[in-house]
Amino acid sequence: MLPVIERLLVLQDRDRKRLRLETELADLPLQRRRLQERAARNAAAADDLKQRTRHLESERKRLELEVKSKEEFIRKIETQQGATKSNEEYRRFTHQIDTTRSEITALEDQELVLMEQAETATRELAAAAQLAATEKATVDKLISDLAAREGNLTADLAAIRGDRQRLAADVDPGTLSKYDRLVEKRGDNVVVGVTGAICGGCHMKLTQQDFLKAKAQQELVFCPNCTRILYYTRDMEP
Ligand SMILES: [Zn+2]
Repeated sequence: MLPVIERLLVLQDRDRKRLRLETELADLPLQRRRLQERAARNAAAADDLKQRTRHLESERKRLELEVKSKEEFIRKIETQQGATKSNEEYRRFTHQIDTTRSEITALEDQELVLMEQAETATRELAAAAQLAATEKATVDKLISDLAAREGNLTADLAAIRGDRQRLAADVDPGTLSKYDRLVEKRGDNVVVGVTGAICGGCHMKLTQQDFLKAKAQQELVFCPNCTRILYYTRDMEP
């Protein structure tokens, strides 16, 4: 095997590791955002229920005040009724009192419904608040794990990049720039074997002439179809 191919294969191995680390690192912000959204969703659900219990409570208080003012109204009418001399007015007062009493009954029925709803909402709120707290703890832990992983990946990446740089310095600049262009264009599988006279990159069958050229290993040989760098070892006979 040509020494330059050996070097390129080692370089390619580092590039594979480097690209894998870069992909993993690039995905971390999205994972973090998803975790934060998950915690936010639970907090929002608990918040909605809190708003609902507050709303129900204030509605109930409003009804209570309305009942009180209607009771006040009845007392006022009863006083006026006691003082009147007119039978017709007396009957009108009786009618007003009866109407107001049935209004009060209706309001008290509404109050009961609201109280039941408030009870349910309070129970749901307690469950939602607990869930939100548990989720937040879980998410906080996952986010801190993520930060630790990011630290490790970043350190690994720096080491691989340093290693790669040292290895790249051993490859002549012309070949290196061809290799780098290939990596940029085709990813991390650009120095490929020719098992069975087939390019290990694009899987096109090589001509006998190209295969023999690759087999000879006297110079760098490129796939005529995909321009990848071809290499040969004995177990690649067609
Ligand atoms: Zn090819």
